[in-house]
Amino acid sequence: MALLQDTPLTRGLRKQLIKDLQDKGFHDLPILKAFAEVPRHFFLPPIFLQQAYSDVAFPIEAGQTISQPSTVAYQTLLLQLEPRQKVLEIGTGSGYQACILASIGATVYTIERQMKLFNATKALLNNLPYRIICRFGDGTLGLPQEAPFDRILVTAGAPEIPKNLLKQLVIGGKLVIPVGDGETQTMTRVTRLDELTFETEQFQDFRFVPLIGKQGW
Ligand code: SAM
Repeated sequence: MALLQDTPLTRGLRKQLIKDLQDKGFHDLPILKAFAEVPRHFFLPPIFLQQAYSDVAFPIEAGQTISQPSTVAYQTLLLQLEPRQKVLEIGTGSGYQACILASIGATVYTIERQMKLFNATKALLNNLPYRIICRFGDGTLGLPQEAPFDRILVTAGAPEIPKNLLKQLVIGGKLVIPVGDGETQTMTRVTRLDELTFETEQFQDFRFVPLIGKQGW
């Protein structure tokens, strides 16, 4: 059960985390503001208070992980998100990344395939002041009934880019997804230029838990 209390101690730990992110080269103000606003310890059991503000990934329910803060910052930066955009996140996990996106001003839809994690995170998000729509299911299929999306963010490692997700982007929309068939995945951004044309860019390598589903592993 998360500790939903923000104290001078946790605010201090958060300031230190933001300094750590700045030292690692993250200077985007809306993103840093979101990290300052969202208490990351809400997403971990209370005994892991210190770990919540270290730049490390951490185990959560169902053998999954809450992504490392610098990975959350990196993926958010690549999204080039603007306030009021409609975003689909695949891999709700702890719900932290979804709250960062919502704190920047996006309307966030998020999908999780692990039932236990989905239920726990949905209950947590209901107690937080963000408008996040949680769905249970296979995110590799996207969310056709709510499409199109301005941005789609995948927070699990995919063997290839799911075609369903590309179809659900607006023209000008962007998909950020780690792609790779081994231990590591290359962070990839796909921009939809028109109905049939997509531009693909590749960035650094990361290690994510696998994206499991019809268009995943
Ligand atoms: N965004 C999360 C956070 O802020 O805590 C981190 C997510 S964790 C690295 C990846 C998540 O993707 C796991 O919770 C996993 O169950 C989920 N996942 C994997 N394949 C999925 C799929 N096809 N659809 C939805 N979720 C999926």
